[in-house]
Amino acid sequence: MIDFAALRKEFPILHQEVHGKPLVYLDNAATTQKPQAVIDAIVHYYGQINSNVHRGVHTLSQRATDAFEATRGKLQKLVNAAHEHEIIYTTGTTGSINLVAHGFRSLLGPGDEIVVSQLEHHSNLVPWQMLAQHTGATLRYIPIVADGSLDLEEAQRLLTPSCKLLAFNHISNALGTVNPVKQLTEWAHAVGACVVVDGAQGLPHRPVDVQDLGVDFYAGSAHKMYGPTGTGMLYGRTEWLEKLPPYQGGGEMISTVTMAQSTYAGLPFKFEAGTPNIEAVVGWGAALDWMNAIGMDALMAHEADLMAYGTERLKAIDGLVLFGTAPEKSAVLSFGFADLHPYDLGTLLDQQGIAVRTGQHCTQPIMDYYSIPGTVRASFAAYSNREDVDRLAVGVERALRMLR
Ligand SMILES: *Cc1c(COP(=O)(O)O)cnc(C)c1O
Repeated sequence: MIDFAALRKEFPILHQEVHGKPLVYLDNAATTQKPQAVIDAIVHYYGQINSNVHRGVHTLSQRATDAFEATRGKLQKLVNAAHEHEIIYTTGTTGSINLVAHGFRSLLGPGDEIVVSQLEHHSNLVPWQMLAQHTGATLRYIPIVADGSLDLEEAQRLLTPSCKLLAFNHISNALGTVNPVKQLTEWAHAVGACVVVDGAQGLPHRPVDVQDLGVDFYAGSAHKMYGPTGTGMLYGRTEWLEKLPPYQGGGEMISTVTMAQSTYAGLPFKFEAGTPNIEAVVGWGAALDWMNAIGMDALMAHEADLMAYGTERLKAIDGLVLFGTAPEKSAVLSFGFADLHPYDLGTLLDQQGIAVRTGQHCTQPIMDYYSIPGTVRASFAAYSNREDVDRLAVGVERALRMLR
């Protein structure tokens, strides 16, 4: 049994007061807090190892390279990629998706279609709009239905031989909807489309097996899974990574450079130009070890309990509307009140030491669907507990008394 109460003690940031009240941190879909093990790994890196990677024969450079590359192996295991070179380090989910979208510039043209969903974070939407603009391809949307899941019948209709690329998220950051990745991928592959999955919320909350899911690309961010900001990964199937041109030019990504031309390095380095965020990658390795020690089954059970409890507590509040009620949901409770602006509620919660996200959550098309300016979003992580949920429910009731 995992002692989740003890595990919470490993997060120094959680043990402070905000506006004179013990902090309740429920903004985990925006970023998670970091356990001491991750903080220690970064301090150790700068105190003992710091050096540039892949460059020197000297001992420190080799140690830095080993620590940096060890995380790649851990990520390969995490998502069950067939090869370690299929894991590309990026700046995060946004960086990963832009890498793929940029690569497709030479592969698409007028008449081709890109299918995305209405459930997307802007970072899995704007790059495809830019790609469509650049190539003349057409962007089409899988709409959502009332409970915040995708309209799968419409998805099937949109997946025709004109569709060259399908992009959607594993789990919605705004509503918590868990999408049927394997099913959508099968449909897309049946018409020959490439499948890109935004896994920013998938990696922290669900087991991911890219070979079983069959996806061509899967993107994630370290900071959403107890690791540092500024680094992330792109899993890409070898055939696709070979087909795509390099994203950025510079050091690290070349094999030979003359004044006339250059040849590119093999995978994964072809996509890793310049000095990477080494300390963040090393810290991410520590975060992966930390998550593995808990295990995804225990983590999912813990979060499912909080979701059941939180849903019940929030539903009991008069006038509260819950957005996103799909049968399979992850650790997000998004809600609002017809007569209140989410920002006002969020401000009054902050005054009680409760950190939630308010607004559109980088998913404006979802808010447009519900015709609302935004929601208040409480999202859970491993260290969240029922007391956090109680504080939230009491905090909302108190805010309502002040606002009405
Ligand atoms: C956070 C998030 C992103 C963007 O991740 P960055 O780390 O900001 O690049 C994309 N999609 C989803 C679903 C997210 O939750």
